[in-house]
Amino acid sequence: MVEPTSLLLGLEGLGVRAVAQRADRTRVVEVITIDPNAARCPDCGIVSDSVKERTVTSPRDIRYGEDPIVLRWNKTRYGCRNDTCSRVSFTEAIEQVPPRRRTTTRLRTQIAREIGDAARSVVEVADGAGVSWPTAHAAFVAHAETVLGEVAPVRVLGIDETRRGKPRWTRETDSGRWVRTDPWDTGFVDLCGDQGLLGQTEGRTGAAVRQWLSEQSEAFRAGITHVVIDPSAAYAAAVTREVLPNAVLVVDHFHLVKLANDALTAVRRRVTFDTLGRRGRKQDPEWANRRRLLTARERLAPRAFAAMWNALIDNDPSAQILSAYIAKEELRQLLAAARDRVDDAEIRTRLYRFYSWCADTKIPELHRLATTIETWWPAILAFLHTGLSNARTEGYNRLVKQVKRVACGFRNTENSRRRIRFHCTRAQRASTRFTTEHLPG
Ligand SMILES: [Zn+2]
Repeated sequence: MVEPTSLLLGLEGLGVRAVAQRADRTRVVEVITIDPNAARCPDCGIVSDSVKERTVTSPRDIRYGEDPIVLRWNKTRYGCRNDTCSRVSFTEAIEQVPPRRRTTTRLRTQIAREIGDAARSVVEVADGAGVSWPTAHAAFVAHAETVLGEVAPVRVLGIDETRRGKPRWTRETDSGRWVRTDPWDTGFVDLCGDQGLLGQTEGRTGAAVRQWLSEQSEAFRAGITHVVIDPSAAYAAAVTREVLPNAVLVVDHFHLVKLANDALTAVRRRVTFDTLGRRGRKQDPEWANRRRLLTARERLAPRAFAAMWNALIDNDPSAQILSAYIAKEELRQLLAAARDRVDDAEIRTRLYRFYSWCADTKIPELHRLATTIETWWPAILAFLHTGLSNARTEGYNRLVKQVKRVACGFRNTENSRRRIRFHCTRAQRASTRFTTEHLPG
């Protein structure tokens, strides 16, 4: 039976022999090894009784009570007496304090959890635990590696861009020109499984995407049935049959609605400028209605909708803003086919209504929008059939920003990626699972 003080300390394998208090209230706990396996040679496994030397170490442990605790572990150094073993000597070790460790296992676990799960900064946690920054960081890395492990195959891969920092202006040394750099990362997300954020890579080019995919296993690449991307030509070009042989490209529909909203805003600005010879102001009706224009039709109260509609009729004789508004709503109707689970005939009807509306106007912004929809049609149709979207990725982008804020800007990209991935994976596990019933196969 373990005696009470040792039980209170709770470090398995160590027994408390004495506790003393210094003038500054620090408690000094003298411990000895009570685990018979501590005298086992780490190479040959034979228990030794040949004491070579006695030493004292002070491994750092978790806080207990208000005043500090200092452990003094009286360790024994043994010689291995097994003739066939090449080891000459070894020092006692227990599971809570492995060889050459100066912190207990339970302290490192606690540190890792505070950094990883509570998303606290390394500096803050290191200070609180009384260890150095590198020790706290190493504890987190070891913990993260066991939790994250290798990327397992996924069925639906989400590819999305995130801004890594604020845009910066830098001066080129040769020409003296000022150049704007927009640091972007590309994130890869397991959209239907429970792995969360799989990885990140610098930049948002097709080459960056191909590079990341090429670093994954062949089984991973072959297992992907769908890839959801923003309507970015670079991403689409990267997802080829050579790279992902079984993947169908799906375009994220929120980005398509945004394209329609952008076209509508461009028309409103141009019409205002043509009519008034200046930019829109607060007192202009179409400026006052700009938010209602971008709001989904079904989310507008009947009165607000009527007010917007009538103001546009009264103040835009060319009816271009209203035409652009209707085009946006026709596109939304078409995209709602995914939610409504309609058949392909109904999809064709809705697509035809959108195209013919755009074609019947003489509005260049709407012609461009219709061309974009045509370019992306196969990937849009894949969305209408599966309902897959990157909506979940947006959640990660918020998490990524939160983690970055806590860390006050990472200088080391690898450290930053590990923490972000750890955080997004954990958040993922806590959330409910995505339904995969709409997926074929
Ligand atoms: Zn040995």
